[in-house]
Amino acid sequence: MHINSESSALDAYWMPYTANREFKRNPRMITAAEGCYFTDADGREVFDGLSGLWTCGAGHNRPEIREAVTRQLGRLDYAPAFQFGHPGAFELAERIVDVLPDGLDHVFFTNSGSESADTATKIARAYWRQRGKPGKTRIIGRAKGYHGASWGGISFGGIGANRKLWGQGMEADHLPHTLLPQNAFSRGQPEHGDYLADALEDLVALHDASNIAAVIVEPLAGSAGVLPPPVGYLARLRALCDKHDILLIFDEVITAFGRMGAWTGAEAFGAVPDMMGMAKQLTNGAIPMGAVAVKGEIYRTVVDAGGPEHLIELPHGYTYSGHPVACAAALASLDLLHRDGLIERAREMAPIFENALHSLKGANRYVTDIRNYGLAGALTIEAAHGDPALRPYQIAMKCWAKGFFVRHGGDTVQLGLPFIVDRAQIDAVINAIGEAINELE
Ligand code: PLP
Repeated sequence: MHINSESSALDAYWMPYTANREFKRNPRMITAAEGCYFTDADGREVFDGLSGLWTCGAGHNRPEIREAVTRQLGRLDYAPAFQFGHPGAFELAERIVDVLPDGLDHVFFTNSGSESADTATKIARAYWRQRGKPGKTRIIGRAKGYHGASWGGISFGGIGANRKLWGQGMEADHLPHTLLPQNAFSRGQPEHGDYLADALEDLVALHDASNIAAVIVEPLAGSAGVLPPPVGYLARLRALCDKHDILLIFDEVITAFGRMGAWTGAEAFGAVPDMMGMAKQLTNGAIPMGAVAVKGEIYRTVVDAGGPEHLIELPHGYTYSGHPVACAAALASLDLLHRDGLIERAREMAPIFENALHSLKGANRYVTDIRNYGLAGALTIEAAHGDPALRPYQIAMKCWAKGFFVRHGGDTVQLGLPFIVDRAQIDAVINAIGEAINELE
């Protein structure tokens, strides 16, 4: 495709989470992808340093997924999601349960991470109502949390830039974030900050637990710039939720299915939530799909209180929940993760990535923090002239010009390497970032 930035051909599309004016002046058009590489409109190969958008850990254009999708389209393109079913959705739910921590044994399908966060928090309220505690409605998120773009997500999400344009959303409270200066340049989980979970006690004192439905956090906060949980933090939050009869939801849209070198963040960090939101890596990015796993007690409470058997117990869902083609993509993707040992592979490559990423400490100006866990990592970059977003943007653009896609978000540069990455590719992307930083004015 020929791109002419002078023409109006790029005008009609209002791009999501994008600096539209900048992009349309300087288009970065991706036309193909294979393995760890994109091809751009000029035919250049560009290393994919974010696995798409944390989606494509098994690499792009895997024939197993492509063929499963094609086969499914030829057999059953769509089946109504409400009141009727198809075998793929039931099989996929079982297959997801198999890799989750014990107890998370029922799965509700969505089409995205945002829908998973909405769904989990709606189920939390339904659960308490059906348990005879309808006052338990308040949702508590965390500063710097990201749970998608819907009204729910921006309300209990904690990234100011994603909230300020919209006025009031749902009522929600926020725990403090865990980005502490004394943890700067930690490798893996930072040492300090488990006590930050205790802020839940303050919110309980303020509202009373009888008004609080759930706490929702990412086990590792991704979009805010890869914040691994401090050692002991999630266990402490789990214990406090138990103490006060508050449901704990992990938003594992980035962390589930391998990125942490484990099937889930819950497994990697040793704390099991009552509900878990997933998306992204579920289909290796090939087809939109999300899911929410819940404990059996939550499922049974809501379903058993549903009245006569012909009535719908949870009036919630999406036309494309459990879409047959998405299920086929997810089943093929799970097969790949198992067959190629990609979770283990991510775990093996993690220390190599950690060493390479932390080599940017000190060697480069402007790097004020480096964080990592599994195959996720980020650098915090010192603000230029009071504008925290400028240098990360400049770094990402320089990397793109050098043939590397990395993410810029807020004051950070983020990496989410494919699970199939090799040492040479890790070195190459880290070198490109280092060069880009050193070329800054
Ligand atoms: N939750 C988390 C933790 C995410 O990282 C994201 C997206 O990055 C979402 C929710 C929203 O997912 P989606 O963009 O698929 O709606």
